[in-house]
Amino acid sequence: MKLTILGCSGSVPTAQNPASGYLLSFDNAPSIVLDMGPGTLAQLEQQQDPCDAHVAFSHLHADHCLDFPSLMVWRRFHPTAPAASRNMCFGPKATPTHLGRLSSDEVDGIDDMSDTFAFSAWEPGERQLVDDVYITPFPVTHPVEAYALRVEHTKTGQTITYSGD
Ligand SMILES: [Zn+2]
Repeated sequence: MKLTILGCSGSVPTAQNPASGYLLSFDNAPSIVLDMGPGTLAQLEQQQDPCDAHVAFSHLHADHCLDFPSLMVWRRFHPTAPAASRNMCFGPKATPTHLGRLSSDEVDGIDDMSDTFAFSAWEPGERQLVDDVYITPFPVTHPVEAYALRVEHTKTGQTITYSGD
C-alpha cells in the first residue's frame, strides 16, 4: 500500500497544495482516494487514470469533496478515456444527495450518479471490503457527520488510519 498526498491544505487550497485528498495505491487493484478537496483531481491526474479509483469520504465539508463533480465530468465525458466501469464511493448518508446537488444542471436538481459510482453509506464500526482492502469508519466529533477511516490491506496487513479533520 502506497500513500500519496494529493493535497493537505486546511480549508483553502493553494497553487502548490490542494485541499484534503489522499491516494492509496495497491498492486493489481484500483486505488482508493480518501477525500477530494479542491485541486486534488489535477494532482490525481499526475499520478494515474482518475477513473481507476474508488472514493471514500471522511465527511462532506467543501474542502474535502468539491473536486468530485469534476471527477464526474471526467468519468462520463472524457473524449478518449471515460470510465469503463463503475467504481465504489463511500461516505456519510447524504453523500449521493449532497454531491448530486453539486453536479446537477438544475438549481434544485440532484444528479443521479449511479451510472458511474455505486454509493454506500458508512455505518459506524462496520467495515467495508473494497477489493483486497477493508475500510472501517469510526464516528468522530465534528460539526457534520464525520468518520475516521481505518484502512487495512488484507494481503500485507499494512494499515493506515485517516482522521479527517
Ligand atoms: Zn471538516
